[in-house]
Amino acid sequence: MNGEGFELNGVTYHWPTKPVVVVCVDGGDPTYIEHALRNRTIPTIERFMRQGFYAIADGTVPSFTCPNNMSIITGSEPAVHGISGNFYLDPATRTPVVMTRPELLRSSTVLAEYAKCGAKIVSITSKDKLRQQLQKGIDLAQGHISFSAQYAEQCTIEENGIDQVLDLVGMPQPDMYSAELSLFVLEAGIKLLEQRRPDILYLSLTDYVQHKYAPHEPEALDFYKQLDDAFGRLVGLGAVVGITADHGMNDKARPDGSPNVIWLQDLLDDTFGKDSTTVICPITDPFVAHHGSLGGFVRVYCNDATRPETVALFASQLAGIESVWDKASAARIFGLPSDREGDVVVISEAGACVGAAETDHDLSGLEGHRLRTHGGVAESKVPFILSEPLNDDYWARAAGQTLRSHNIFEFTINGTLSSG
Ligand SMILES: [Zn+2]
Repeated sequence: MNGEGFELNGVTYHWPTKPVVVVCVDGGDPTYIEHALRNRTIPTIERFMRQGFYAIADGTVPSFTCPNNMSIITGSEPAVHGISGNFYLDPATRTPVVMTRPELLRSSTVLAEYAKCGAKIVSITSKDKLRQQLQKGIDLAQGHISFSAQYAEQCTIEENGIDQVLDLVGMPQPDMYSAELSLFVLEAGIKLLEQRRPDILYLSLTDYVQHKYAPHEPEALDFYKQLDDAFGRLVGLGAVVGITADHGMNDKARPDGSPNVIWLQDLLDDTFGKDSTTVICPITDPFVAHHGSLGGFVRVYCNDATRPETVALFASQLAGIESVWDKASAARIFGLPSDREGDVVVISEAGACVGAAETDHDLSGLEGHRLRTHGGVAESKVPFILSEPLNDDYWARAAGQTLRSHNIFEFTINGTLSSG
């Protein structure tokens, strides 16, 4: 690689002197690391904490997958990159729109800018829904690679910059709902780092394990042991590794195990009349089985003469609701694009979640497990881990403020490698 670096969203990125791997541990709540540390099953992360850097950072709110992955790869907030949910209501047509189309992403990305400057990029995501935004602006004909574990067996040179991925990785096609979907991403990153030596790798996992298992459960501990092993192998291949998460995860079940849900659309219909409001759950995506589209953050759109302030007052008095914001305040407080915001934002407490109408949510996928999900402020704390120590400049920055997870590329590259 050669060149002078580039500027993106106010940050000047330097040229890395060794391969850079940034991992987004989907749903990687800091409590998973705390439990695994107590069990002494994550020696690599323990070493990073001792010899590198470890902090708890603030992620983007709403604490969902798409907004945070875009914050991480653009180094900015949704007000800049435009992706404020997995899902939003188009104000013109009043129809819900999935926010995974690349044209909805309003910023270039760290990956695309490095690619333009001659770096070789690898982007691997568990869920295909993220793939097109992650590879936006990257010309795959120039030797870059972008694919999802979900469709690994279908990869072609034309679409993904690589084929025969199962052979490369040495694992069978993983199931969409499995720990292996994440482990496949890491294994593919390791194999590509070993064989092709790309400059920048972005590896985005899935939160299947965290939705299903609490941090103390053996399945979660075993998953973190395997993540830790992969991180060690990436460092062993000479990479600097930065690890963060898109969001945390909380148990949102009552003591009897039933989901603690505020069915907001039902309550609003009863109070203000049917069709007076539309509740949009921006957690909604094709992977609904493990959360039933229930999260900690919803948007309410007021129809006809319904007044947002009346709806906000009503919602703020409901048990389990932590905060309620009008459109302008939500955009300002959380750095969100106001043209994609609802009239009212409703955020639940850590132990509760918000849904639309009870009949709209299918909870059969929980299969008797307690509901664990995310989306609110309570799930926005994430780990921020570096395999190498910070230089003086970045150490001072880290000491003086709470870090944002969207600074992970900057800190991994400029903060550890460019101490001169
Ligand atoms: Zn996620």
